[in-house]
Amino acid sequence: MTGSIELRNPRTGRSDGTLPSTTADELTATAQRLRTAQPAWNALGVDGRAHVLRRWKAACDVRRDAIITALAADTGRMRESVQEFDAFLGTIERWANLAPKLFAESRRFTSSLGFIDIDKNLRPYQLAGIISPWNFPLVLSTIDMLPALMAGSAVLLKPSEVTPRFVAPLRESLVDVPELASVFEIVIGDGTVGAQMIPFVDLICFTGSVPTGRKVGLAAAAHFIPALLELGGKDPAIVLAGADLDSASTALLWGATSNAGQACQSIERIYVEASVHDEFVDLLSRKAARIGLCYPTYDTPGLGPIIADRQVPTIERHLADALAKGAVVRAGSSEVERHGGGAWVRTTVLTGVTHDMEIMREETFGPFLPVMAVADADEAVRLANDSPFGLSAAVFAATTEDAEAVARRLDAGAVSVNDATLTALVWEGEKHSFKSSGLGGSRMGPASLFRFLRSQALLIKTNPAVRDPWWYPAD
Ligand code: NAD
Repeated sequence: MTGSIELRNPRTGRSDGTLPSTTADELTATAQRLRTAQPAWNALGVDGRAHVLRRWKAACDVRRDAIITALAADTGRMRESVQEFDAFLGTIERWANLAPKLFAESRRFTSSLGFIDIDKNLRPYQLAGIISPWNFPLVLSTIDMLPALMAGSAVLLKPSEVTPRFVAPLRESLVDVPELASVFEIVIGDGTVGAQMIPFVDLICFTGSVPTGRKVGLAAAAHFIPALLELGGKDPAIVLAGADLDSASTALLWGATSNAGQACQSIERIYVEASVHDEFVDLLSRKAARIGLCYPTYDTPGLGPIIADRQVPTIERHLADALAKGAVVRAGSSEVERHGGGAWVRTTVLTGVTHDMEIMREETFGPFLPVMAVADADEAVRLANDSPFGLSAAVFAATTEDAEAVARRLDAGAVSVNDATLTALVWEGEKHSFKSSGLGGSRMGPASLFRFLRSQALLIKTNPAVRDPWWYPAD
């Protein structure tokens, strides 16, 4: 486990240097150090931990420019890097507010026996491991880390090898918060380092692709630790006759092209009732054609580059397969474009697509809106559910009630009703990832915190007068 990872700039395709990977010895020593410090962190109590996290928030805010610059250099997009940073600070605040309330809830009650009370004592996993992907490097590294820390766990984080530059300014921020530095460490490296982490932790949170998630799940099972897996998606949207097509087309453009489509909850396929298909496609294509590329400068409005070079062949394969099988480009790119050394795709609307095409079945992770006409809501639901994925979905209909009724039939953990991709913005609703899109408890809502806590039942005899309950042997 030696070596280094490359710092690649997706706008230029050039290497800006390397970072040394964490070695096996460093990993061993770090895990030991975190375990040693965790009891004191837990003993701080939830209010004490909230106070420390708020100080960290201030320390990160001081380094705002450095963190955003690092994120932008790795991802090639500036606007989303600013949004990521602000979302990260907002999430610290949310957990610092929420966790004390959740811990304060009374967990003591009298059992059916009457003289035995039950007290539910919450005990954190000592060391939580977190492995994150490249599409939102900061948000997806911290989305599980913050509730884990608030629960009282120590955290070992490995961000993606594709986007590791934010680690340096983040580490610097920890200098101002020694209590946190003692229980939180970041390791650098690729999947080899990720795989090496698993034996050292008590629980692993993994966000990434389905194939890697399967490996992580198997490794976790071999070490008998829980794996919380948040994996890929192929989110469907359904647009029924009577829906506000103007609003639906705008919402779906945002849902499919935010972060240039490089989001797990991106809309990747659209089913439109035949009677409104042509009108919808015209609207969508006209609006799509107005969205440009964020090139040549960060200030140019439009979509950023493909962040990970290794994603390009997948996008090219899906597009070529669709075109070869008869899909028609109504707006956007018919191939991955090369500008300034980076790889770029325009907001691309496709019609004439079928479920025989990879672009309708596998995760593309680009700004594509393939649109298919369907006879009615039943066919739309059948096709939307015809997928190994079940992350999220969207439904547009004439009324909220109609859309809700269709949403309830979809095999997906979250469904936006008369809007799209709301899970990117609204994190209070508990949701599971269905089918191959994940495993484990809800990372959203209050349940997120409890994933890092085990319940210990204290069964307390409260009435000393009951000297001989029925289960004691007779004298
Ligand atoms: P990936 O699976 O290639 O890598 C994710 C992480 O796993 C990286 O840090 C990588 O170094 C590490 N890794 C690789 N092999 C490993 C192994 N054997 N053991 C342990 N760790 C290993 O995914 P990616 O390309 O970085 O990210 C894109 C994928 O992430 C897409 O499929 C996307 O849908 C998914 N994603 C899911 C969510 C979600 O919340 N469901 C959010 C964002 C991204």
